[in-house]
Amino acid sequence: MSSTAVTLEKIVALCKRRGFVYQSADIYGGLNGVYDFGPMGAQMKQNIRAAWLENIQSSEHEIVLLDGSLLGSHAVWKASGHLDNFHDPMIDCLECKKRYRADDIDIEKACSHCGKKNWTDVREFQLMFKTQLGALTDSTSVAYLRPETAQSIFINFKNVTSSTRVKIPFGIAQIGKAFRNEITPKQFLFRMREFEQMELEFFCTPDTADEFFATWIEMRKRFYHTIGLTPEKLRLRPHEADELAHYSKGCVDVEYHFPFGWKELEGIANRGNFDLTQHSTHSGKELSVFDENKKESYIPHVVETSVGVDRLFLTLLFDAYKEEELENETRTVLQLHPRIAPTTCAIFPLTKKLSDNAHKIYLDLKSKGLRVHFDQAGSIGKRYRRQDEVGTPVCFTFDFDSLEDGCVTARDRDTLEQKRINIARVEDYVRDLLK
Ligand code: ATP
Repeated sequence: MSSTAVTLEKIVALCKRRGFVYQSADIYGGLNGVYDFGPMGAQMKQNIRAAWLENIQSSEHEIVLLDGSLLGSHAVWKASGHLDNFHDPMIDCLECKKRYRADDIDIEKACSHCGKKNWTDVREFQLMFKTQLGALTDSTSVAYLRPETAQSIFINFKNVTSSTRVKIPFGIAQIGKAFRNEITPKQFLFRMREFEQMELEFFCTPDTADEFFATWIEMRKRFYHTIGLTPEKLRLRPHEADELAHYSKGCVDVEYHFPFGWKELEGIANRGNFDLTQHSTHSGKELSVFDENKKESYIPHVVETSVGVDRLFLTLLFDAYKEEELENETRTVLQLHPRIAPTTCAIFPLTKKLSDNAHKIYLDLKSKGLRVHFDQAGSIGKRYRRQDEVGTPVCFTFDFDSLEDGCVTARDRDTLEQKRINIARVEDYVRDLLK
Protein backbone atom coordinates (compact mmCIF):
# COMPACT_ATOMS: atom_id res chain seq x y z
CA MET A 1 0.00 0.00 0.00
CA SER A 2 1.39 3.42 -0.87
CA SER A 3 0.55 6.71 0.78
CA THR A 4 0.19 10.20 -0.72
CA ALA A 5 0.93 13.45 1.05
CA VAL A 6 -1.79 15.21 2.97
CA THR A 7 -2.65 18.80 2.05
CA LEU A 8 -4.80 21.45 3.67
CA GLU A 9 -7.20 21.31 0.71
CA LYS A 10 -7.75 17.58 1.22
CA ILE A 11 -8.49 18.07 4.92
CA VAL A 12 -10.93 20.91 4.24
CA ALA A 13 -12.74 18.83 1.60
CA LEU A 14 -12.96 15.76 3.84
CA CYS A 15 -14.23 17.87 6.74
CA LYS A 16 -17.08 19.19 4.64
CA ARG A 17 -17.87 15.90 2.88
CA ARG A 18 -18.06 13.86 6.08
CA GLY A 19 -19.66 16.36 8.46
CA PHE A 20 -16.66 17.42 10.52
CA VAL A 21 -16.48 21.16 9.84
CA TYR A 22 -18.49 23.63 7.77
CA GLN A 23 -17.76 27.25 6.98
CA SER A 24 -20.08 29.25 9.20
CA ALA A 25 -23.04 30.85 7.39
CA ASP A 26 -22.09 28.80 4.35
CA ILE A 27 -25.42 29.36 2.59
CA TYR A 28 -24.93 33.15 2.88
CA GLY A 29 -21.41 33.12 1.46
CA GLY A 30 -19.58 32.32 4.70
CA LEU A 31 -18.10 34.26 7.60
CA ASN A 32 -14.33 34.57 7.43
CA GLY A 33 -12.40 32.83 10.21
CA VAL A 34 -15.55 31.34 11.77
CA TYR A 35 -16.58 27.69 11.53
CA ASP A 36 -19.38 25.35 12.59
CA PHE A 37 -18.71 21.78 13.62
CA GLY A 38 -20.96 19.07 12.17
CA PRO A 39 -21.98 15.77 13.78
CA MET A 40 -18.55 14.12 13.36
CA GLY A 41 -16.62 17.25 14.32
CA ALA A 42 -18.73 18.04 17.38
CA GLN A 43 -18.25 14.50 18.71
CA MET A 44 -14.51 14.55 17.99
CA LYS A 45 -14.19 17.85 19.86
CA GLN A 46 -15.92 16.29 22.86
CA ASN A 47 -13.40 13.45 22.74
CA ILE A 48 -10.50 15.92 22.57
CA ARG A 49 -11.82 17.86 25.57
CA ALA A 50 -12.30 14.65 27.57
CA ALA A 51 -8.77 13.42 26.77
CA TRP A 52 -7.25 16.80 27.69
CA LEU A 53 -9.10 16.94 30.97
CA GLU A 54 -8.06 13.43 31.84
CA ASN A 55 -4.40 14.29 31.22
CA ILE A 56 -4.59 17.50 33.27
CA GLN A 57 -6.48 15.86 36.13
CA SER A 58 -4.09 12.91 36.25
CA SER A 59 -1.67 15.27 38.02
CA GLU A 60 -0.96 14.21 41.60
CA HIS A 61 -2.11 17.70 42.65
CA GLU A 62 -5.65 18.94 42.83
CA ILE A 63 -7.05 20.42 39.63
CA VAL A 64 -10.45 22.11 39.78
CA LEU A 65 -12.60 23.41 36.95
CA LEU A 66 -13.90 26.84 36.09
CA ASP A 67 -16.37 27.97 33.45
CA GLY A 68 -15.91 31.72 33.14
CA SER A 69 -17.96 34.25 31.23
CA LEU A 70 -17.15 35.19 27.66
CA LEU A 71 -17.78 38.88 28.21
CA GLY A 72 -15.25 40.79 30.28
CA SER A 73 -15.22 44.35 31.57
CA HIS A 74 -12.84 47.11 30.51
CA ALA A 75 -11.18 46.90 33.93
CA VAL A 76 -10.23 43.23 33.50
CA TRP A 77 -8.54 43.74 30.14
CA LYS A 78 -6.85 46.93 31.28
CA ALA A 79 -5.30 45.11 34.24
CA SER A 80 -4.30 42.07 32.18
CA GLY A 81 -2.42 44.28 29.72
CA HIS A 82 -4.55 43.25 26.75
CA LEU A 83 -6.00 46.71 26.12
CA ASP A 84 -2.53 48.20 25.81
CA ASN A 85 -0.59 45.32 24.29
CA PHE A 86 -2.88 42.88 22.49
CA HIS A 87 -2.52 44.10 18.96
CA ASP A 88 -0.88 43.01 15.72
CA PRO A 89 0.81 45.21 13.12
CA MET A 90 -1.34 45.63 10.01
CA ILE A 91 -0.40 46.86 6.54
CA ASP A 92 -2.41 47.32 3.34
CA CYS A 93 -1.35 47.29 -0.29
CA LEU A 94 -2.59 50.59 -1.76
CA GLU A 95 -2.71 49.07 -5.26
CA CYS A 96 -4.82 45.93 -4.79
CA LYS A 97 -6.17 46.67 -1.27
CA LYS A 98 -4.99 43.33 0.10
CA ARG A 99 -4.40 43.41 3.84
CA TYR A 100 -1.55 41.64 5.65
CA ARG A 101 -0.15 41.18 9.10
CA ALA A 102 3.02 43.24 8.73
CA ASP A 103 5.11 40.66 10.60
CA ASP A 104 3.93 37.93 8.19
CA ILE A 105 5.51 39.50 5.12
CA ASP A 106 8.67 41.30 3.99
CA ILE A 107 7.52 44.90 3.47
CA GLU A 108 10.77 45.70 1.66
CA LYS A 109 9.42 43.55 -1.16
CA ALA A 110 6.43 43.99 -3.50
CA CYS A 111 2.92 42.73 -2.68
CA SER A 112 2.75 39.01 -3.46
CA HIS A 113 -0.83 39.43 -4.69
CA CYS A 114 -0.42 42.20 -7.33
CA GLY A 115 3.37 42.44 -7.66
CA LYS A 116 3.49 46.19 -6.92
CA LYS A 117 5.16 47.90 -3.98
CA ASN A 118 2.94 50.61 -2.56
CA TRP A 119 2.30 50.03 1.12
CA THR A 120 0.40 52.02 3.74
CA ASP A 121 2.14 52.75 7.04
CA VAL A 122 2.14 49.91 9.54
CA ARG A 123 -0.72 50.42 12.02
CA GLU A 124 -1.39 48.56 15.26
CA PHE A 125 -4.70 46.67 15.21
CA GLN A 126 -6.43 45.79 18.50
CA LEU A 127 -7.42 42.11 18.36
CA MET A 128 -10.21 42.15 20.94
CA PHE A 129 -13.86 42.33 19.87
CA LYS A 130 -15.43 45.30 21.59
CA THR A 131 -19.12 45.43 22.42
CA GLN A 132 -21.51 47.22 24.69
CA LEU A 133 -23.69 46.04 27.54
CA GLY A 134 -27.20 47.51 27.81
CA ALA A 135 -28.69 50.53 26.10
CA LEU A 136 -26.45 53.29 27.45
CA THR A 137 -23.25 54.04 25.58
CA ASP A 138 -20.96 55.43 28.22
CA SER A 139 -17.56 54.15 29.26
CA THR A 140 -19.03 51.80 31.89
CA SER A 141 -21.04 49.89 29.26
CA VAL A 142 -17.99 48.84 27.25
CA ALA A 143 -17.21 45.11 27.34
CA TYR A 144 -14.94 42.80 25.39
CA LEU A 145 -15.24 39.20 24.25
CA ARG A 146 -12.39 37.38 25.95
CA PRO A 147 -9.32 36.78 23.77
CA GLU A 148 -8.16 33.98 26.09
CA THR A 149 -9.74 31.98 28.88
CA ALA A 150 -6.88 32.53 31.36
CA GLN A 151 -7.99 35.88 32.79
CA SER A 152 -11.31 34.41 34.03
CA ILE A 153 -9.18 32.10 36.14
CA PHE A 154 -7.01 34.86 37.60
CA ILE A 155 -9.93 37.14 38.48
CA ASN A 156 -11.66 34.20 40.22
CA PHE A 157 -8.58 33.06 42.12
CA LYS A 158 -9.85 34.47 45.42
CA ASN A 159 -13.37 33.12 44.83
CA VAL A 160 -12.04 29.62 44.25
CA THR A 161 -9.63 29.56 47.18
CA SER A 162 -12.22 30.94 49.59
CA SER A 163 -15.14 28.77 48.44
CA THR A 164 -13.31 25.44 48.17
CA ARG A 165 -10.60 23.74 50.19
CA VAL A 166 -7.86 23.84 47.54
CA LYS A 167 -4.36 24.56 48.81
CA ILE A 168 -1.19 25.56 46.96
CA PRO A 169 0.00 23.82 44.83
CA PHE A 170 -3.17 23.35 42.80
CA GLY A 171 -4.52 24.13 39.36
CA ILE A 172 -7.61 25.66 37.81
CA ALA A 173 -8.49 24.27 34.39
CA GLN A 174 -10.89 25.71 31.89
CA ILE A 175 -12.21 24.84 28.46
CA GLY A 176 -14.06 27.55 26.65
CA LYS A 177 -14.42 29.92 23.75
CA ALA A 178 -12.06 32.78 22.99
CA PHE A 179 -12.31 35.46 20.32
CA ARG A 180 -9.62 37.30 18.42
CA ASN A 181 -10.21 39.65 15.53
CA GLU A 182 -7.27 38.14 13.61
CA ILE A 183 -6.19 40.40 10.72
CA THR A 184 -5.79 37.46 8.36
CA PRO A 185 -7.50 34.29 9.58
CA LYS A 186 -5.94 31.45 7.63
CA GLN A 187 -5.07 27.80 7.29
CA PHE A 188 -8.60 26.73 8.16
CA LEU A 189 -8.84 25.94 11.89
CA PHE A 190 -5.26 27.04 12.56
CA ARG A 191 -6.04 30.73 12.90
CA MET A 192 -9.70 31.48 13.56
CA ARG A 193 -11.57 34.50 14.88
CA GLU A 194 -13.75 32.41 17.20
CA PHE A 195 -12.04 29.39 18.71
CA GLU A 196 -11.84 27.34 21.86
CA GLN A 197 -9.01 27.02 24.35
CA MET A 198 -8.07 24.46 26.96
CA GLU A 199 -6.02 26.20 29.61
CA LEU A 200 -4.55 25.29 32.95
CA GLU A 201 -3.26 27.82 35.45
CA PHE A 202 -1.23 25.99 38.06
CA PHE A 203 -0.58 27.98 41.23
CA CYS A 204 2.54 27.28 43.29
CA THR A 205 5.14 28.85 45.56
CA PRO A 206 7.88 30.94 43.88
CA ASP A 207 10.62 28.42 44.72
CA THR A 208 8.76 25.45 43.15
CA ALA A 209 7.72 27.17 39.90
CA ASP A 210 10.71 26.01 37.83
CA GLU A 211 10.18 22.42 38.89
CA PHE A 212 6.44 22.51 38.08
CA PHE A 213 7.22 24.16 34.76
CA ALA A 214 9.41 21.16 33.87
CA THR A 215 6.79 18.69 35.18
CA TRP A 216 4.00 20.19 33.09
CA ILE A 217 6.13 20.20 29.95
CA GLU A 218 6.64 16.46 30.45
CA MET A 219 2.94 15.85 31.18
CA ARG A 220 1.85 17.70 28.10
CA LYS A 221 4.40 15.92 25.89
CA ARG A 222 3.13 12.58 27.16
CA PHE A 223 -0.44 13.66 26.41
CA TYR A 224 0.32 14.15 22.72
CA HIS A 225 1.90 10.73 22.55
CA THR A 226 -1.06 9.05 24.27
CA ILE A 227 -3.57 10.52 21.80
CA GLY A 228 -1.51 9.12 18.95
CA LEU A 229 0.33 12.09 17.40
CA THR A 230 3.48 11.01 15.54
CA PRO A 231 6.38 11.71 17.96
CA GLU A 232 8.74 12.76 15.12
CA LYS A 233 6.30 15.48 14.11
CA LEU A 234 6.33 17.07 17.56
CA ARG A 235 9.05 19.16 19.11
CA LEU A 236 9.53 21.52 22.04
CA ARG A 237 10.79 24.98 21.23
CA PRO A 238 11.96 27.12 24.14
CA HIS A 239 11.40 30.83 23.47
CA GLU A 240 14.43 33.04 22.88
CA ALA A 241 15.02 35.76 25.48
CA ASP A 242 13.76 38.46 23.08
CA GLU A 243 10.44 36.60 22.56
CA LEU A 244 9.61 36.53 26.26
CA ALA A 245 7.37 39.06 27.96
CA HIS A 246 9.26 41.10 30.58
CA TYR A 247 7.62 39.20 33.47
CA SER A 248 8.03 35.72 31.95
CA LYS A 249 10.46 33.27 33.51
CA GLY A 250 10.33 30.90 30.55
CA CYS A 251 8.10 29.71 27.76
CA VAL A 252 8.12 26.57 25.65
CA ASP A 253 5.99 25.97 22.57
CA VAL A 254 4.91 22.47 21.66
CA GLU A 255 5.25 22.60 17.89
CA TYR A 256 3.85 20.28 15.23
CA HIS A 257 5.20 19.78 11.74
CA PHE A 258 2.22 20.92 9.63
CA PRO A 259 2.36 20.78 5.80
CA PHE A 260 2.93 24.56 6.08
CA GLY A 261 5.89 24.22 8.49
CA TRP A 262 6.65 23.83 12.21
CA LYS A 263 4.00 25.81 14.07
CA GLU A 264 2.82 26.31 17.63
CA LEU A 265 0.27 23.83 18.87
CA GLU A 266 0.46 24.66 22.58
CA GLY A 267 2.20 27.24 24.74
CA ILE A 268 3.58 26.35 28.18
CA ALA A 269 4.68 29.31 30.29
CA ASN A 270 6.29 30.02 33.62
CA ARG A 271 4.50 33.30 34.24
CA GLY A 272 5.82 34.34 37.65
CA ASN A 273 3.20 36.21 39.68
CA PHE A 274 2.54 38.85 37.06
CA ASP A 275 -1.18 38.15 36.49
CA LEU A 276 -2.31 37.99 40.11
CA THR A 277 -0.15 41.02 40.97
CA GLN A 278 -1.73 43.03 38.16
CA HIS A 279 -5.28 42.15 39.22
CA SER A 280 -4.47 42.81 42.86
CA THR A 281 -3.02 46.23 42.06
CA HIS A 282 -5.84 47.26 39.71
CA SER A 283 -8.73 45.95 41.81
CA GLY A 284 -7.26 46.89 45.19
CA LYS A 285 -8.09 43.35 46.41
CA GLU A 286 -5.67 41.14 48.30
CA LEU A 287 -4.76 38.14 46.14
CA SER A 288 -1.93 36.73 48.26
CA VAL A 289 -2.01 33.51 50.27
CA PHE A 290 -0.43 32.71 53.61
CA ASP A 291 2.52 30.32 53.84
CA GLU A 292 2.04 28.41 57.12
CA ASN A 293 5.67 27.26 57.24
CA LYS A 294 7.32 30.56 56.50
CA LYS A 295 4.60 32.50 58.32
CA GLU A 296 4.38 35.04 55.52
CA SER A 297 2.05 36.06 52.73
CA TYR A 298 3.00 35.82 49.08
CA ILE A 299 1.38 36.07 45.68
CA PRO A 300 1.47 32.60 44.08
CA HIS A 301 3.44 31.92 40.92
CA VAL A 302 1.74 30.43 37.89
CA VAL A 303 2.61 27.79 35.32
CA GLU A 304 0.24 27.96 32.35
CA THR A 305 -0.48 25.40 29.65
CA SER A 306 -2.63 26.60 26.77
CA VAL A 307 -3.81 24.83 23.63
CA GLY A 308 -6.61 25.46 21.15
CA VAL A 309 -9.22 22.70 20.81
CA ASP A 310 -9.61 23.55 17.14
CA ARG A 311 -5.88 23.76 16.45
CA LEU A 312 -5.41 20.37 18.07
CA PHE A 313 -8.39 19.05 16.08
CA LEU A 314 -6.69 20.17 12.85
CA THR A 315 -3.37 18.70 14.00
CA LEU A 316 -4.99 15.33 14.71
CA LEU A 317 -6.60 15.29 11.27
CA PHE A 318 -3.32 16.10 9.52
CA ASP A 319 -1.56 13.41 11.49
CA ALA A 320 -4.24 10.77 10.88
CA TYR A 321 -4.99 11.38 7.20
CA LYS A 322 -3.72 8.68 4.82
CA GLU A 323 -4.46 7.83 1.22
CA GLU A 324 -3.69 4.30 0.13
CA GLU A 325 -3.93 2.49 -3.18
CA LEU A 326 -6.00 -0.57 -2.51
CA GLU A 327 -7.57 -2.94 -5.04
CA ASN A 328 -7.08 -0.35 -7.79
CA GLU A 329 -8.80 2.40 -5.94
CA THR A 330 -7.76 5.05 -3.46
CA ARG A 331 -8.73 4.46 0.14
CA THR A 332 -8.85 7.58 2.32
CA VAL A 333 -8.48 6.74 5.96
CA LEU A 334 -8.22 8.71 9.18
CA GLN A 335 -6.02 6.71 11.50
CA LEU A 336 -7.29 8.50 14.59
CA HIS A 337 -6.69 7.11 18.05
CA PRO A 338 -9.88 5.23 19.08
CA ARG A 339 -10.45 7.69 21.93
CA ILE A 340 -10.38 10.61 19.51
CA ALA A 341 -12.32 9.02 16.62
CA PRO A 342 -15.93 10.30 16.55
CA THR A 343 -17.31 6.77 16.27
CA THR A 344 -15.59 3.81 17.95
CA CYS A 345 -17.25 1.04 15.99
CA ALA A 346 -19.82 0.41 13.28
CA ILE A 347 -22.27 -2.47 12.92
CA PHE A 348 -23.34 -3.74 9.50
CA PRO A 349 -25.81 -6.42 8.50
CA LEU A 350 -24.45 -8.23 5.41
CA THR A 351 -27.86 -7.85 3.74
CA LYS A 352 -31.05 -6.07 4.77
CA LYS A 353 -32.54 -9.46 5.67
CA LEU A 354 -30.18 -9.51 8.66
CA SER A 355 -30.90 -5.93 9.75
CA ASP A 356 -32.88 -6.82 12.86
CA ASN A 357 -30.12 -9.08 14.20
CA ALA A 358 -27.40 -6.49 13.58
CA HIS A 359 -29.55 -3.66 14.91
CA LYS A 360 -29.96 -5.51 18.19
CA ILE A 361 -26.18 -5.51 18.68
CA TYR A 362 -26.06 -1.83 17.77
CA LEU A 363 -28.75 -0.91 20.33
CA ASP A 364 -27.06 -2.99 22.99
CA LEU A 365 -23.68 -1.24 22.55
CA LYS A 366 -25.35 2.16 22.30
CA SER A 367 -27.24 1.59 25.55
CA LYS A 368 -23.89 0.86 27.20
CA GLY A 369 -22.60 4.30 26.29
CA LEU A 370 -20.37 3.32 23.35
CA ARG A 371 -20.10 5.54 20.29
CA VAL A 372 -21.48 3.17 17.70
CA HIS A 373 -22.89 3.60 14.20
CA PHE A 374 -25.31 1.40 12.25
CA ASP A 375 -25.13 1.26 8.46
CA GLN A 376 -27.02 -1.00 6.08
CA ALA A 377 -26.82 1.06 2.88
CA GLY A 378 -24.69 -0.05 -0.08
CA SER A 379 -22.08 -2.77 -0.46
CA ILE A 380 -19.93 -3.80 2.51
CA GLY A 381 -16.90 -2.36 0.69
CA LYS A 382 -18.60 1.05 0.40
CA ARG A 383 -19.61 0.94 4.04
CA TYR A 384 -16.01 0.20 5.07
CA ARG A 385 -14.78 3.19 3.02
CA ARG A 386 -17.32 5.50 4.65
CA GLN A 387 -16.15 4.45 8.11
CA ASP A 388 -12.46 4.65 7.11
CA GLU A 389 -12.95 8.26 6.08
CA VAL A 390 -14.31 9.25 9.49
CA GLY A 391 -11.71 7.18 11.34
CA THR A 392 -13.90 4.41 12.85
CA PRO A 393 -11.36 1.90 14.24
CA VAL A 394 -13.43 -1.28 13.80
CA CYS A 395 -16.48 -2.48 11.86
CA PHE A 396 -18.49 -5.60 12.74
CA THR A 397 -20.47 -7.42 10.07
CA PHE A 398 -23.36 -9.73 10.90
CA ASP A 399 -23.65 -12.33 8.11
CA PHE A 400 -25.59 -15.58 7.53
CA ASP A 401 -22.95 -17.61 9.42
CA SER A 402 -23.60 -15.36 12.43
CA LEU A 403 -27.05 -16.98 12.74
CA GLU A 404 -25.28 -20.32 13.23
CA ASP A 405 -22.06 -19.54 15.12
CA GLY A 406 -23.08 -16.43 17.13
CA CYS A 407 -20.00 -14.58 15.78
CA VAL A 408 -19.50 -11.42 13.72
CA THR A 409 -16.57 -10.43 11.49
CA ALA A 410 -14.43 -7.70 13.03
CA ARG A 411 -12.50 -5.68 10.43
CA ASP A 412 -9.62 -3.49 11.58
CA ARG A 413 -9.36 -0.02 10.03
CA ASP A 414 -5.55 0.10 9.94
CA THR A 415 -4.43 -3.48 9.27
CA LEU A 416 -7.57 -4.44 7.30
CA GLU A 417 -7.35 -7.74 9.14
CA GLN A 418 -10.63 -9.60 9.55
CA LYS A 419 -11.43 -12.06 12.29
CA ARG A 420 -14.49 -13.78 13.72
CA ILE A 421 -15.40 -12.86 17.26
CA ASN A 422 -18.26 -13.95 19.45
CA ILE A 423 -21.08 -11.41 19.74
CA ALA A 424 -20.86 -11.64 23.52
CA ARG A 425 -17.25 -10.39 23.28
CA VAL A 426 -17.92 -7.36 21.07
CA GLU A 427 -18.35 -4.92 23.94
CA ASP A 428 -15.04 -5.90 25.59
CA TYR A 429 -13.30 -5.79 22.23
CA VAL A 430 -14.42 -2.18 21.74
CA ARG A 431 -13.65 -1.15 25.32
CA ASP A 432 -10.13 -2.55 24.97
CA LEU A 433 -9.55 -0.18 22.05
CA LEU A 434 -10.46 2.76 24.25
CA LYS A 435 -7.96 1.91 26.98
P1 ATP B 1 0.00 32.42 17.54
O1 ATP B 1 1.42 32.88 17.73
O2 ATP B 1 -0.16 31.19 16.71
O3 ATP B 1 -0.94 33.53 17.19
P2 ATP B 1 -0.37 32.83 20.26
O4 ATP B 1 1.02 32.71 20.80
O5 ATP B 1 -0.97 34.16 20.10
O6 ATP B 1 -0.48 31.97 18.95
P3 ATP B 1 -1.59 31.97 22.62
O7 ATP B 1 -2.10 33.30 23.00
O8 ATP B 1 -0.41 31.43 23.34
O9 ATP B 1 -1.33 31.92 21.08
O10 ATP B 1 -2.80 30.93 22.65
C1 ATP B 1 -2.66 29.63 23.15
C2 ATP B 1 -3.15 28.61 22.14
O11 ATP B 1 -4.46 28.94 21.66
C3 ATP B 1 -2.30 28.51 20.88
O12 ATP B 1 -1.19 27.67 21.10
C4 ATP B 1 -3.28 27.90 19.90
O13 ATP B 1 -3.35 26.47 20.09
C5 ATP B 1 -4.59 28.51 20.31
N1 ATP B 1 -4.90 29.68 19.47
C6 ATP B 1 -4.46 30.95 19.63
N2 ATP B 1 -4.96 31.75 18.68
C7 ATP B 1 -5.75 30.98 17.90
C8 ATP B 1 -6.55 31.24 16.75
N3 ATP B 1 -6.66 32.46 16.23
N4 ATP B 1 -7.23 30.19 16.20
C9 ATP B 1 -7.14 28.95 16.72
N5 ATP B 1 -6.40 28.66 17.80
C10 ATP B 1 -5.71 29.65 18.39
